[in-house]
Amino acid sequence: MQLHLYDTLTREVKPLEPVTCHVGIYCCGPTVYGPAHIGNFRTYVVQDVVVRTLQALGTKTRYVRNLTDVDDKTIRGAQQAKQSLQAFTSHWTDVFEEDCRQLNLLQPDVEPRATETIQAQLDLIGQLMQKGYAYVSKGSVYFRISSFKHYGKLSRLDQRCCQTQGTNSAGELNDADEYERESIGDFVLWKNRKPEDGDVYWESPWGQGRPGWHIECSAMSRLYLGATVDLHVGGVDLCFPHHENEIAQSEAAYGGTFARHWMHIAHLKVDGEKMSKSLGNLHTVASLLQKNYSREAIRYALMAGHYRHPLNFTFDLLNASQSALQKLYQYLSRLLATAQLTVETFEQEYLLASTLDKVKYLQGFFESLCDDLNVPKALGQLFTFVNDSNIQSLDAKQILYELGICMFVLGLPAHFSTDNVVIPLPVRRMTEQRWQAKQAGNYQEADDIRHILLKEGWQVLDTQDGYKVVPLKNYKK
Ligand code: AMP
Ligand code: ZN
Repeated sequence: MQLHLYDTLTREVKPLEPVTCHVGIYCCGPTVYGPAHIGNFRTYVVQDVVVRTLQALGTKTRYVRNLTDVDDKTIRGAQQAKQSLQAFTSHWTDVFEEDCRQLNLLQPDVEPRATETIQAQLDLIGQLMQKGYAYVSKGSVYFRISSFKHYGKLSRLDQRCCQTQGTNSAGELNDADEYERESIGDFVLWKNRKPEDGDVYWESPWGQGRPGWHIECSAMSRLYLGATVDLHVGGVDLCFPHHENEIAQSEAAYGGTFARHWMHIAHLKVDGEKMSKSLGNLHTVASLLQKNYSREAIRYALMAGHYRHPLNFTFDLLNASQSALQKLYQYLSRLLATAQLTVETFEQEYLLASTLDKVKYLQGFFESLCDDLNVPKALGQLFTFVNDSNIQSLDAKQILYELGICMFVLGLPAHFSTDNVVIPLPVRRMTEQRWQAKQAGNYQEADDIRHILLKEGWQVLDTQDGYKVVPLKNYKK
């Protein structure tokens, strides 16, 4: 079995084949200026399943996910918080790492910060200047897109269209420098120091300033994965201009192929809408945990849809994920009882990336994953097996072995974190209904629901980020 993935560049599903002894994966990581939302985490969870699948297939991986710790947003955020850029971004990096831990994401092999790799970025800009792909204007350095004939190959944009429309979707070029570019599609590699940047600047051959966003990834990827990466991943919004610009910078400077495979993950929506603070539908891992959803259910919901389709996040989806997991963990307990094993033994001996050659019952699960990471199909096959199989008549240890690999790939731990508190689906629905009523100012309705829940033994507590539901102490029906 071999993992096949859709490649955005060639528009085909093709095998992921490493050129060296491992698959080198570069992922555009978060900009650390605030909490990442669950949309960001859809992208990171999907990547995590890719890495885990490769490991279960016996392939070695080298996984690099960067931290963007200098840009307009981080500089502004640090100033507002009256902190140094370093202190500010370290705080948000810690918050990000905690969310990653909650979601059981594998640690990347390298997690470089943009500010720690400035020299590599300067070297790359130097190469581009030397080869005539870049020019200086008013202390900033720009990439001349007309000089790179393959510009637009990833996003299939006509270069003329890029030149006339330009872009500011990175939120970077929307300043006076824009008018200093030769062509509006040219993008910035090095930004001249401005008074509003405060003390955030580095020395360069072109004067004091700071790097543009795109150059950071090209430089970090080369530094930690060499000239060519096997797989470059990110959310679909990064395809243009960010990834297009990464290709232009890296291939113009060093020749060859920058990335052999491009994977883009479709966006997560909430209740069918784009997530935004103003719509009040921006959820974070912490805010969902506060509401007493298990971390496994959050992870499960984020990986349940096919990565190439937008995923609509709803509380019904989260509830359904919670129920599915309850079933899976109950099945695991029954298997362990039959095999006379403890969950600790399962954790230590079965829940790890083993090679798949001895798989007998759950072959279909892994075949679906290998077919462009079809997680929903794989989960369907897993649950068909869980629902239909009669444990007594099967080899429980063999199933445990196979289930261990499935759970490793899905990133599900041996212990279900809400084993003790199972909140029934109707209770969850009512708490959500109460929350919506409260948000809409219907306090009477919200109170009525709270009382019904209390009678049923559930207490709703309002918290800073939303609400939490807990079983009522000493409740007797
Ligand atoms: P950022 O911190 O904004 O650079 O985003 C980090 C990652 O999350 C990038 O790969 C984005 O493409 C991805 N991303 C942003 N919004 C969403 C969303 N709603 N759904 C899925 N991925 C997203
Ligand atoms: Zn990037």
